[in-house]
Amino acid sequence: MKKIPLHWSILLGMILGVLVGIIFTTFEAGPKIISHWVKPFGTIFINALKLIAMPLILGSLIKGVSDLKDISKLSQMGGRTIGIYIITTVVAVMIGLVMVNAIKPGVSISEETRQDLITAYQSDAEEKQAIAQQQKDAGPLQALVDLVPNNIFKATTENGNMLQVIFFALFFGVGLILIPAEKSKPVKDFFDGFNEVILRLIDLIMLVAPYGVFALLAALIVESPSLDLFRALGMYAMTLVIGLAVMGIFYLLLVRLFVKLKPKKFIEGIAPAQLLAFSTSSSAATLPVTMERVEEHLGVDEEVASFVLPIGATINMDGTSLYQAVAAVFIAQAFGMDLDAGTQLSIVMTATLASIGAAAVPGAGMVMLVIVLAQAGIPEAGLALIFAIDRPLDMCRTVINITGDASVSLLVAKFTGKLDKYSKGKK
Ligand code: ASP
Repeated sequence: MKKIPLHWSILLGMILGVLVGIIFTTFEAGPKIISHWVKPFGTIFINALKLIAMPLILGSLIKGVSDLKDISKLSQMGGRTIGIYIITTVVAVMIGLVMVNAIKPGVSISEETRQDLITAYQSDAEEKQAIAQQQKDAGPLQALVDLVPNNIFKATTENGNMLQVIFFALFFGVGLILIPAEKSKPVKDFFDGFNEVILRLIDLIMLVAPYGVFALLAALIVESPSLDLFRALGMYAMTLVIGLAVMGIFYLLLVRLFVKLKPKKFIEGIAPAQLLAFSTSSSAATLPVTMERVEEHLGVDEEVASFVLPIGATINMDGTSLYQAVAAVFIAQAFGMDLDAGTQLSIVMTATLASIGAAAVPGAGMVMLVIVLAQAGIPEAGLALIFAIDRPLDMCRTVINITGDASVSLLVAKFTGKLDKYSKGKK
């Protein structure tokens, strides 16, 4: 029998998950059965992906950097990566602002719906506000301080410390470049082998991906709030989804124009990672697969992928920044506020920074949205308005987040001469 391509089997798993979820919501014991007997397999699947994220970053980044031979290459690649990341994020926020100003989804929210939503989700919104407050209380340079761990073993024990581990791996890699080759060789060989093992583990985990996403989506459906709320927020969701789609087209154009890669090839290469991003709502959990797809199916050299993608997963969140722009203006509209051009411009700034600061886990974009709202003088209580529908939208923006990272890795590879002509089918 012909083997079904991975993205189709994952998609099939997702569709079946949704269907089973819907069926099990129709009788009373259903949701509990899914929560107790199906959801755990989804959790195990996400845990397995997260489990290898840290070793993957350590192994591949140390190897990638030490292969560079010369430190100036690193700063060249670093400069380009950060530069392109910032440009794509600003483009995303602008697209979001144009969409939300053109469609005006907040205007159609009735006073009654607004009150209902606020009462229903006030406490959830307050929880997010409290987390955001902790981040706001720290000084402006806290992000920089947080970058440098004081204990690498401690740093690797927490998935939220990805940037610290990246910092250590880069630092260690630089050290390896600076010592004589006969001394660095055994260390490099070790990380080389280590890396191979991790990549193999990703292949093994992906074998069960269709079952993993099935469990995740079935659980999500039985736990989701009522459809009525979704309907009230339909216009908002639509505005955001259109904005994200435009951003997706923007990436396709970018890679077509600069990398000469056909959209179909790009989508085929990255689709499994996109589907996982959708199912897990986490760029960090998807990272191992994004890396594998970009290297093995789109031909980005490991040196580039191992540098650009882990950094991108944590700081480049175009879907999230677009969402923050749309959500902020939507809430303002729902409260009958008119935002002037200056305030909207400040949203470009704060949404860009807030998306950089957002962690690559489900719901993180919403925490950082609090900061965008506060800066623009929009009532933070408005968070309650969008709470009900945040998870499905989080799934969509995570897809764009990882697609942006993958596109930028292709661009950086192209600009640094590290693009193996679309991987001539290593696989
Ligand atoms: N879930 C998103 C991600 O992991 C972040 C967000 O909440 O926007 O990329």
